[in-house]
Amino acid sequence: MTQRLYYTDSYLDTFRARVEELSADGVRVYLDRTAFYPTSGGQPFDTGTLGGAAVVAVVDEGERVAHVLAEPAAALAPGAEVEGRIDRGRRFDHMQQHTGQHLLSALLQERWGWATTSVHFGPETNTLDLAVESISPEQVAEVERQANEVVYENRPLAVTFEDAAEADGLRKASERTGTLRIVTIEGVDRSACGGTHVRATGEIGVILLRRTERVRKTVRLEFVCGGRAVRRARADFEALSRIAGPLSTSLDDAPAVVAAQTEQLREAASIRKRMREELAGAQARALADAAAPDGAGVRWIVERRPAWDADELRALAHAVSTLPKAVLVAAVEAPPTVMLAASADSGVDAGVALKPALVAAGGRGGGSPRVAQGSVPVAAALDAVLAALLPR
Ligand SMILES: [Zn+2]
Repeated sequence: MTQRLYYTDSYLDTFRARVEELSADGVRVYLDRTAFYPTSGGQPFDTGTLGGAAVVAVVDEGERVAHVLAEPAAALAPGAEVEGRIDRGRRFDHMQQHTGQHLLSALLQERWGWATTSVHFGPETNTLDLAVESISPEQVAEVERQANEVVYENRPLAVTFEDAAEADGLRKASERTGTLRIVTIEGVDRSACGGTHVRATGEIGVILLRRTERVRKTVRLEFVCGGRAVRRARADFEALSRIAGPLSTSLDDAPAVVAAQTEQLREAASIRKRMREELAGAQARALADAAAPDGAGVRWIVERRPAWDADELRALAHAVSTLPKAVLVAAVEAPPTVMLAASADSGVDAGVALKPALVAAGGRGGGSPRVAQGSVPVAAALDAVLAALLPR
């Protein structure tokens, strides 16, 4: 059974212990005592070194804690006395997030009546799921303000070991029997928990609430504490600065400027689309006028170009399809494509005519009776497609 030193001292980051056993492959080390926290209750494991060897994961195996090494280390033989060092920065970050979660869950339950149904601690942000249908942005801001007030009050935390039958006033009743480890934030919360926590709420640092998301019948609330909250705020500031800078506006005015520019862009795109259609209409009429009508009075417009703007070509095809007795056969070399457009009274069904011509040349495509389009593998195949489409 591994003695868990973090139960009574979450600030202990260097300790001495005896190696009791190694796994056959030499990468799982069992000690008589440890300050390494194994993944448990949502809180991620510690990393660090054991006798100088890197510990890359820590696993709670019930009675014992397994320290997983990147590779076997000669110094870690059974019976050896070794020094363990945990990564202080990583652990303290976990303590800030975890204690912040206790504080938030207590506040959300006591003052707002929203029970926490699950918690997730991620590498960047954390979330808690609340038994409530929806939360307004104003409520999120109010909860954030209240939580930070408890931080400023710097309320002490205490860890006690109490008998499950006698421990009362817990935020959530424990299903365990025997001795419970109870974490108390003075005047705010009492919870049964095996995790690591800071000694007073001031050490949580600032608490930043972020987005909420509806997940089934609960609301998922994202939060970050302490160093993460500052890093997140800095990243937000830098992102917003990169938006505001090129617009020559302040951060506060950036949303309105972006909204106005987005609207202008939408209008410009709509004007451009209308002008493209008008231009295509004029081009279609000019091309049709220049083409001599065949025996049935249908004017065949045949265009072959090295390249063609796709939107422009589509607009021209559509315009030709609305003319009286006109057909457009357009071949583009790069990428090798064919567009066929036919007006309703031309006697040509574009989709029906184009598909077999493409397939015979190793290509594919299709479309409606008015406009069809497809591709062939190489430009050299275009001649065969054109020959198949044009009247003999
Ligand atoms: Zn806890």
